[in-house]
Amino acid sequence: MAGLDTPLKRLLPADVARKLASHRQITTAAELLWFLPRRYLDLRTEVAELLPGSYAVFAGTVLTANARPMRNRRGRLLNVTVRSGANEIDLAFFSAYGHERKLVPGASGLFAGTVSEYGRRLQLAHPAYEMIGEDDQGRADDLIQDVLTQRYMPVYREVKNLPSWTLARAVAGVLDALAPLSDPVPAQVLDRHGLPGLEAAFALVHAPPSLEAATRGLARLRYDEALTLQVVLAQRRHAHQGARAVPRRPTAAGLLQAFDARLPFALTAGQRSVGEQLSDDLARTWPMHRLLQGEVGSGKTVVALRTMLAVVDTGGQAALLAPTEVLASQHHRSITVMLGDLAEGGMLGGAEQGTRVALLTGSQSAAQRKVALLQAASGEAGIVVGTHALIQERVQFADLGLVVVDEQHRFGVAQRDALRGKAKIDPHVLVMTATPIPRTVAMTVFGDMDTSVLTELPAGRSPIASHVVDNPGWYERAWARVAEEVAKGHQAYVVCPRIGDDDDDKPGREANGGTNSETDTADETDTADETDDSTNGDTEDDGLTAASAGAATPPRSVLEVRDELVGNSVLSGLRIEVLHGRLPAEAKESVMTAFGAGQVDVLVSTTVVEVGVDVPNATVMVIMDADRFGVSQLHQLRGRVGRGSAPGLCLLVTGSQAESARERVAQVAATNDGFELARIDLEQRREGDVLGARQSGHGSLRLLRLNRDEQVIADARADAARLVGDDPELSQHPELARAAARWLDEEQAAYLERG
Ligand code: ADP
Ligand code: MG
Repeated sequence: MAGLDTPLKRLLPADVARKLASHRQITTAAELLWFLPRRYLDLRTEVAELLPGSYAVFAGTVLTANARPMRNRRGRLLNVTVRSGANEIDLAFFSAYGHERKLVPGASGLFAGTVSEYGRRLQLAHPAYEMIGEDDQGRADDLIQDVLTQRYMPVYREVKNLPSWTLARAVAGVLDALAPLSDPVPAQVLDRHGLPGLEAAFALVHAPPSLEAATRGLARLRYDEALTLQVVLAQRRHAHQGARAVPRRPTAAGLLQAFDARLPFALTAGQRSVGEQLSDDLARTWPMHRLLQGEVGSGKTVVALRTMLAVVDTGGQAALLAPTEVLASQHHRSITVMLGDLAEGGMLGGAEQGTRVALLTGSQSAAQRKVALLQAASGEAGIVVGTHALIQERVQFADLGLVVVDEQHRFGVAQRDALRGKAKIDPHVLVMTATPIPRTVAMTVFGDMDTSVLTELPAGRSPIASHVVDNPGWYERAWARVAEEVAKGHQAYVVCPRIGDDDDDKPGREANGGTNSETDTADETDTADETDDSTNGDTEDDGLTAASAGAATPPRSVLEVRDELVGNSVLSGLRIEVLHGRLPAEAKESVMTAFGAGQVDVLVSTTVVEVGVDVPNATVMVIMDADRFGVSQLHQLRGRVGRGSAPGLCLLVTGSQAESARERVAQVAATNDGFELARIDLEQRREGDVLGARQSGHGSLRLLRLNRDEQVIADARADAARLVGDDPELSQHPELARAAARWLDEEQAAYLERG
């Protein structure tokens, strides 16, 4: 019996199966059925757009056909003219043999091929075609007949030498061979939503009697994907609750209490209530899995630190993972400072109940590493801060009770699994997102977690004022504002999309100073175009006018802007330094330390300061080529200023003429609401970007669109909760259980591949 996993080799003519496998890696029945049409042509009324360079599928009638001998070769050339609607197009065959007989004036059929221009006429060289008529056995071709008289023609992504109608026929053959298909979605669920069964849905999508029918089929398949994903997440939630964890109930008169007593500010109401939620979670016998979403600057770090201290008070350890080395070092530094003598456990003069805070990053010296590894393994360090190297490597903990993942917008299911493997008993896990995230992302990427939200900013903050600088005349004024802020004793960031050293034209990631798979610089060049480094006579004005010349202009770079600022009389005497991912680790560390200590006035950097960097004395940020960045990213960047009591200012410099780019920048300037900007971001970007192709853990979202399918996802989520709640193993729905298992396998495989 043929099933969804049956190889196409067994179901289709050998050459069709071979072409599908070699051009599209489609080898099983399921893969073919899920290879969905991109669109539909109504060949009765619609005239295909015949544009040079495009792949066209159209119906037409032969007007003329002439064969003539070729001059230099044997055989005869066949020229055919076909009319399709108002278009005329020429077909050329370099051998008339076999074609001449079928392509006779008056005959109609379907044609497919890549359109070229020859002379001033449109041409298809050796197109695929299929004529209406009788085949060798004298049978009329039903499919072609149907398509031309009553049905829509599915158009697939191009598979070389397999025209869409051959694909449609292959799908029909496979559906015939497979029927009846068992349906992963339970019948009651389908009824409730008025969705067709799986087999019917495939038929509707691949051979639709009407466009509404195709839409109905597609809705069902989309729901399938949503349900499978939500079942995976629901089963994980269920598994978390069944897992064992060490309950962590903090002792009175411990580190946490001592820390609270010396906190220089009062916690916000939100920080207090999230803190209580977290301590309730920790007191349970199953592991916490919580997502903390917070507006930029809402004070997530303190919340996390208090939770870590609670765990240390019970004799356990906490690991804090940061996405960049800069951020890991900053956390290490600031936690050490905030704890004061509480971080000097076991040292002379350290507080009695104190602990140690260790730092582990990819680019440390062997000696530093050794000490940190030892402190983690012995349990001497209650808190271990590090980059993702912490989960990728074999770091041993004495008693890992809590893992906090900071500022990680894109941290999928598979990564969390890798992390949990670190402890003998599942640790509690707290993930903090860099930016507020839209509901659909929360339901998918983080759908197996509980969520908490921090919207409130600490009292006394004045909102950040943002302005677009898109006029060369205002450009000098921007630097004057920077100088004014510095004169008042404050500091400034200048952010550029590019580094501007010799390695800029290398595609992909920045080289890293470290020795291993350090993720420090991972995101830094994502927005930077991979242009060459040929800078053209750069005065300030050129920067703007040249940028308006279009995409050919390379975006401003850190090194170029630094030179420009150093030479700018308005800023003379200011201490200007650079920071980017390709600096050696010690240099990064010392620049950040100096900036944090107020010894640098202007820091020119890449987006390495995007997340988490916290220097309250910095009050102004100038973002060069702001149109190169995403909406959420700009919001995140801007969140670096206005962290203290002085008001923050963000100047968004753009020379782009593109409407959409200017609008994006204007939207950021118009609101300080991160949730609103996250929603806009999702609308503008493709899922791959939002979820992060590299770290999404969701390489396999095929039909769902997070910016469109909120209702589908929410419905599926409710259905999955009910199904898994009643029957966690889904023994009543084996097909659905299999689909979920397959999904997870694919995710894990993709994660391992990406490393
Ligand atoms: P984010 O949520 O963006 O990670 P941080 O945790 O870095 O924000 O906090 C931003 C700044 O606000 C830090 O300097 C921190 O010390 C300060 N902060 C945190 N909570 C409060 C509070 N309740 N009152 C005043 N300042 C606070
Ligand atoms: Mg933070």
